[in-house]
Amino acid sequence: MDATSLSGVSVPLLEVFSTFQGEGPEVGARQVFIRLARCDLRCAFCDTPESYPTPEHGRLQLVPGGERDEMLPNPVAVEAIVAAVKRLDDPPGVHAGVSITGGEPLLHPQAVREIAVGLFGLAMRVHLETGGHRPGALKAVLDVLDSVSPDLKLESACEAPTPWDAHGETYRMLEAAGKLRAIKAVVGATTPPEEVAEAAAFCAEHAPSAPLVLQPVTPYGEGPAAPPASHLYRLHAAAGRLHPDVRVIPQVHHFLNLR
Ligand code: SF4
Repeated sequence: MDATSLSGVSVPLLEVFSTFQGEGPEVGARQVFIRLARCDLRCAFCDTPESYPTPEHGRLQLVPGGERDEMLPNPVAVEAIVAAVKRLDDPPGVHAGVSITGGEPLLHPQAVREIAVGLFGLAMRVHLETGGHRPGALKAVLDVLDSVSPDLKLESACEAPTPWDAHGETYRMLEAAGKLRAIKAVVGATTPPEEVAEAAAFCAEHAPSAPLVLQPVTPYGEGPAAPPASHLYRLHAAAGRLHPDVRVIPQVHHFLNLR
């Protein structure tokens, strides 16, 4: 399939913009973010609650770092999203890749698929960020993606049960495809070391090739508090006994006032 065979699908869009990746092992890489609207989870630490409803318009940044945007009524055609990515990637190749995120992008597998297909031929890797709880939708798009970073939703931080079965299916599928970039687990001040140890053992069993990233909560609204440094050491030690590659990486885009 090539870009000319896009079928005209549209998708609820929050925004398309150029930035530096602020999470995980790719931190600092220049990427175009495609943030799709809607999420079926309600993590207590969520810093993008604006993604829950579909906004009236999707925002397509016209120039990297610029204030001028194109506002298109939702849902936005995939062709317009792909065109916005190409417009932002100036000079061509300045971005290491595209990150499709949300909300939960796997609520829209057909659009994810068509966006990736539309970007074929550009020197941009297509990466997906997901909560890691929708393996059926992931299976439908995995062949057109270069890499995926799923979450591990810890109950202590999300204030909702961890979807272990869906996580396991997701991780095994990505491991088998060789497309697993990293697994991210957000940790808070009340996250117990025992829970992180259980998560580390789970990841070592189902996704041994990927780093496990412990991401301290960025305090937001009424959400959980960030763990103090002394607690981070405890959490890292608990996970490190059971997993070969555990890293602590905060969200760095907030330091630069980037989205
Ligand atoms: S999966 Fe992401 S967007 Fe959805 S509630 Fe959790 S943190 Fe927010």
